[in-house]
Amino acid sequence: MVTFWKNMISSQIGKLDKEKSMVLLPIAAIEQHGGHLPVGTDSLILEALLERFANTKEFKGYHVIIAPQLWVGKSNEHLGFPGTISYTAITLYNMLKEMVDSMVKSGFKKVMLTNSHGGNTDLLNLISRDLRIEYGIDVYVFDWWFTPFWQELLATEKESPSPYGVFHACELETSLMMAINPDLVDKNAITDETPDEKFQDMKYLSLFGPVNMGWKTRDVTKSGVIGSPSYATAEKGEKMLQYATDKLEAIVAELLGFQY
Ligand SMILES: [Zn+2]
Repeated sequence: MVTFWKNMISSQIGKLDKEKSMVLLPIAAIEQHGGHLPVGTDSLILEALLERFANTKEFKGYHVIIAPQLWVGKSNEHLGFPGTISYTAITLYNMLKEMVDSMVKSGFKKVMLTNSHGGNTDLLNLISRDLRIEYGIDVYVFDWWFTPFWQELLATEKESPSPYGVFHACELETSLMMAINPDLVDKNAITDETPDEKFQDMKYLSLFGPVNMGWKTRDVTKSGVIGSPSYATAEKGEKMLQYATDKLEAIVAELLGFQY
């Protein structure tokens, strides 16, 4: 069964077999997404994914509970672009810790931080170990930006030639938004911008490593786009949403059966 925490009665949560339960804690962002996507893009995509996941997936004998989503994340790289709202790392750390602390007080032993914004990734990996050590619970980080999550699908669906074609307000995110809520996409304002030129003479330095840099968005883009949204289509977005839903099901099924 998959249920939203907010829809459950206190006693129902109390009675759940915690050995057979896992909480997904969704976290996203409110930040500029170029001239064509809404600032809530990361949050809207995650919300749509989790709704489809809850409506279509079932884990017989287990309880998967989706906690209230954190709509705002750590987006200080985008500050200065209108509409971006960001917590500091310390605030976000404390909020996540206090939410997980509350979940532990309700008896839960397995939590997956479920993330749709690349700027949150470092903090989530860091806090996952702290939570594991402090509470002794199982803590996982689901992240699709700095993991191979999309790899299989992008191998056939990605059309933009740049390695940065899928990065931010990109072919992927624009396709997903076109499938989820096309009215929120300003198609006439779509422009591609990638930092290929900036790194063309660099052997080691790139936004993918092996040497990373502490960058702010203005360092690598004028428009706020890092990617090739001109290759986006709603059909591709629908495939991506279904792919993500199915893959999330496989991930959750694996973790439900995993023991530290
Ligand atoms: Zn995004």
